[in-house]
Amino acid sequence: MDYLEALKKCSRCGGCQAHCPLYTETGREAYVVRGKIELLENLLAGKLEWNERLSDIFSACLLCGSCTENCPNGVMGDKLIRSARKDLVLVKGVPIVKKNIFQHLLTNNGRLNAVGKLIALYQVSGLQKLVRGTGLLKLLPGQLNKMESLLPKFSGRSFRNQVPRINNVENSKIRAAYFTGCVTNFVNHQVGSSVLEILKRNNVELIIPEQYCCGVPAVASGDMETGRILAERNINIFTELDVDYIITDCASCLSTFLEYPELYENEKAQKLIPKLIDINRFLVEVLDIKLNPKGLGKKVTYHDPCHLKRIEGGKESPRELLKRLSPAYEFVEMKAADKCCGSAGSFNLTHYDLSQKVAKNKVDSVSECGALVVATACPSCMMQLEHSIAKRTNSITVKHVVELVAESLRSEMNS
Ligand code: SF4
Ligand code: SF4
Repeated sequence: MDYLEALKKCSRCGGCQAHCPLYTETGREAYVVRGKIELLENLLAGKLEWNERLSDIFSACLLCGSCTENCPNGVMGDKLIRSARKDLVLVKGVPIVKKNIFQHLLTNNGRLNAVGKLIALYQVSGLQKLVRGTGLLKLLPGQLNKMESLLPKFSGRSFRNQVPRINNVENSKIRAAYFTGCVTNFVNHQVGSSVLEILKRNNVELIIPEQYCCGVPAVASGDMETGRILAERNINIFTELDVDYIITDCASCLSTFLEYPELYENEKAQKLIPKLIDINRFLVEVLDIKLNPKGLGKKVTYHDPCHLKRIEGGKESPRELLKRLSPAYEFVEMKAADKCCGSAGSFNLTHYDLSQKVAKNKVDSVSECGALVVATACPSCMMQLEHSIAKRTNSITVKHVVELVAESLRSEMNS
């Protein structure tokens, strides 16, 4: 990124303050993009050097894009901050914990599967209960105990290893490939099963190839080299497939795939772009799925994942599906539907308290609208919402939109 060009665009109007969830919570200028622009200028002028404090400041950003969306001068705040993180990594390297996760786990599906199994074992063996019950977690340094409480329920096996690589259907007119993403693969199997079930019932032939993490955790942390390795593998795998569409159920994975050509100057990746589609948009615009739901009108609201709401059809399609679930569900819009939930990949792990403050506004908004179900279209947001809502109530559940669609199709079959 040409910093000077980007920095020159900023008129210092401060308009981004009102749109930055972190500034709203902290009132700290260093947490909003205008403050970071000031620091970048000083870095470029040689008045500052990268150090621990600056690294902390630049890690404090959700990359939610709200400042970019609302900047009158076209400053792309989130991309600027991501580029700064890339520069920091060039100067200081990737921090050791992240390095091990990105470079030794995300690039190796065998190790990733093994770690998934270990976490599941920790959870089902009773060890997690014991550790939590005895207060041992309080002895962990820093925010590790809070981070442990964020651990979602892991499935001991990879979703992709449990389903056929090709989901054949008779008379299929559409062939699609499914990028499952890591959370669906290790945590939310029900999301993956719902996608398979819906597409099978609608005569879509689905291919689920061996694949790798989209790279978003590495890219968001400035580790562009690991991001490039993962992107190239996925690009090679998915460009080889003879399919009409490449479907994702994850907003972050989709937006990362869409950025592959720009991030890595990879021409081959350009071939993927016209085929990439979010599952909600696919169901509405390609299949025009018809639902005939039965039931009582439970209130459902929708949370906009930051990475989906700015993609074509990303705001409308999930809402359209929820409306098609009437009368089983009554769709109600919540006030803060398009505000970030504070998840932001690993931000909720590295900045637990601040992330929970951001999430609180979302939970307030859900409570106010009276919904008993919060639907969304990003497995990472689902984890954050589940954790934050469970701290206040157990009467509100979080679902991916496709889970509700599959539920409706099932109820039609059984009635
Ligand atoms: S980033 Fe945009 S909104 Fe923020 S101070 Fe600069 S010009 Fe104003
Ligand atoms: S990307 Fe989001 S969190 Fe980061 S500075 Fe912009 S508005 Fe604030």
